[in-house]
Amino acid sequence: MERIYNFSAGPATLPLEVLEKASAEMLNHRGSGMSVMEMSHRSAEYDEIHQETKALLKELLNLDDKHEILFLQGGASTQFTMVPMNILSKDDKASYVISGSWAKKAYKEAKLFGNVEILASSEDENFTCVPKINGDEIDKESKYLYLCINNTIYGTRTAPQVINSLSTKMVADMSSNILSEEYDVNKFDIFFAGAQKNLGPSGLTIVGINKDFLPDDGRVLPTILDYKTHLEKDSLFNTPPCYSIYICGLVLKWLKNLGGVKAIQQINEEKANLLYDFIDNSKLYKNNVAPEDRSLMNVVFVTGDKDLDAAFVKGAKEKSIIGIKGHRSVGGMRASIYNAMSLEGVRALVDYMKDFERQNS
Ligand SMILES: *Cc1c(COP(=O)(O)O)cnc(C)c1O
Repeated sequence: MERIYNFSAGPATLPLEVLEKASAEMLNHRGSGMSVMEMSHRSAEYDEIHQETKALLKELLNLDDKHEILFLQGGASTQFTMVPMNILSKDDKASYVISGSWAKKAYKEAKLFGNVEILASSEDENFTCVPKINGDEIDKESKYLYLCINNTIYGTRTAPQVINSLSTKMVADMSSNILSEEYDVNKFDIFFAGAQKNLGPSGLTIVGINKDFLPDDGRVLPTILDYKTHLEKDSLFNTPPCYSIYICGLVLKWLKNLGGVKAIQQINEEKANLLYDFIDNSKLYKNNVAPEDRSLMNVVFVTGDKDLDAAFVKGAKEKSIIGIKGHRSVGGMRASIYNAMSLEGVRALVDYMKDFERQNS
């Protein structure tokens, strides 16, 4: 069987084991005589998947009892709206850290609902670093500090030490780094992640939420955009993305069998170090990110020559390496090395980078 090394930023590669298991269960899921795709979301068979996936997420994230997990739709982008819509009132403050274009999009939506400020921004540095914050800057009146933990496009991330040192109300976008390294997720009253990077297929958005964080002011929201609706109905108010939840459950079992977040963090560090060390020692490739802010999940690099970058991407395809082109807004290259990307895949990429450098110097 021919499998390609897929470095795409999302939807992204999935563990082969997960795809094999899904394939084996496709026509007849655990003796039910049907596929998960065909099951009623009210059936006992589906409920088992729903509960098991939720429990695995809580376990792997080390969530406390205050937090609930929701399975929603509409992508991380819908959360940009749902968070401020549910939390802020017109005069309420919230503080956003602009670390890239996803954070900027979230800020734009929040402005529709409250008196939202930009606490810090690294836009002037072209987002090659994350703004330094220690929490003291935050207005006490502010309802929450908003962070995008991993900046998928720019290859930067807020380090676990920084997260663990903050002690303010916080909301986070964890779309491209959830379950990739250890930090205290309970610090966030709301966090969310589109599944298509580190958790499974698109169509599913994971939300972790502290129920006590929701204002009890009797506000009336559109039913489907009200977190309370989904909390009350255990994410079964309407039809959830059942199949994506099922695959997410398989990915979580795979991760648990590997040893959970602690174990995958080691592997992720090994993969990222392999790439960063190679890039830092090479004469051709360059990564412009501040070393302490380098992402474990998205490694960006350039040759400094647009034509050479294009030749690199083209040549990669011949080596079964795809999805390596940088985001259209920044150019260059980006290797997305999420949990499911193997060390072997990263080695294949580095081998190709070596060959390409030799041929072009
Ligand atoms: C991909 C991504 C998004 C957008 O996710 P959708 O599910 O497509 O809405 C938001 N934030 C980050 C950090 C991302 O990587």
